[in-house]
Amino acid sequence: MTLHPGPVDGFWGAVGRTPLIRLKRASEMTGCDIFGKAEFMNPGGSVKDRAALGILGDAVNRGQLVPFQPGTVVEGTAGNTGIGLTLAANARGWRSVVVMPETQSREKIDFLRMIGADLRLIPAKPYSDPGNYVHYSRRVAEELSKEGPTVWANQFDNLANGAEHERTTGPEIWEELDGRIHAFTCSAGTGGTFAGIARALKSRNPAVRTVLADPMGSALYSWVKTGTLKAEGGSVTEGIGQAARVPGNLEGAPIDDAVQIPDDEALREVFELLRDEGLSIGGSAGINVAAAIRVAREMGPGNTVVTILCDSGARYQSKLFNPEFLRSKGLPVPSWLDG
Ligand code: PMP
Repeated sequence: MTLHPGPVDGFWGAVGRTPLIRLKRASEMTGCDIFGKAEFMNPGGSVKDRAALGILGDAVNRGQLVPFQPGTVVEGTAGNTGIGLTLAANARGWRSVVVMPETQSREKIDFLRMIGADLRLIPAKPYSDPGNYVHYSRRVAEELSKEGPTVWANQFDNLANGAEHERTTGPEIWEELDGRIHAFTCSAGTGGTFAGIARALKSRNPAVRTVLADPMGSALYSWVKTGTLKAEGGSVTEGIGQAARVPGNLEGAPIDDAVQIPDDEALREVFELLRDEGLSIGGSAGINVAAAIRVAREMGPGNTVVTILCDSGARYQSKLFNPEFLRSKGLPVPSWLDG
């Protein structure tokens, strides 16, 4: 793999090779080098473009979809995977059906409509309920498969998701730092990002410390710490955490430790990175940066810690940058939006 491949071919060619950005204040504060992989710079605007390519590329390899022949991809998603899948499908002449809980941000809903997804918004339900968006999307795929070639992306348990990060994101980080990395931390929705990168780094140097970052309201922290799934509290972040299960993509991942990050700690990073370093990131990236700072503090000065900047703040203007929303949740309001 080369970091400067020259011209690339369309959406599929433009995903990946994102910049690894040194986060100045986080690094100075801890005496470490803290880096964020700028996944918000993927053409669909998030880390999930990679999962979309991994899953659809695998479907093509298996003969389930053929480029520029009729085909449909169906997925249940918090939004970003649906965006990546829809754009990737557009570029191959397929149709995309996206099932999403109606609680997700306005911006992601509008964007999915804009890019031509067949969007099905449904009430948010726990995984144990048959109406949960994951089960719902599986049933939609089963129905549509009677009409023609259809793939249910199944990002949580489809291992082509994590494999793509093991093949691309992890090796990119390793190459960008010439192997000078001591720890990696990020949060998990499907776990594909965490598991794929953790595996890629550990296979090159087993001493790299891998720490799962978890929002409140998710049970993954207690699962790593105690082996049992227990969730407490809640979070305004989207796309991360699991209240009641360990997705197939996270199972078996090399996880050394976990940290749990409250929203106010994550949002402080979101707002300060924007104000002081010109970096616009979303809530899950805020959790990741806060986790990287905690890991760096715990390990001490001189270490290099890498995390993931999953998507951009623009995807959450109506929530994380809306003083009324923030106040209603008891969260801090950035000074330039207050008043
Ligand atoms: N952050 C955001 C904003 C996301 O949409 C997602 C995907 N649901 C993640 C983080 C987590 O990525 P993964 O599914 O690879 O664990």
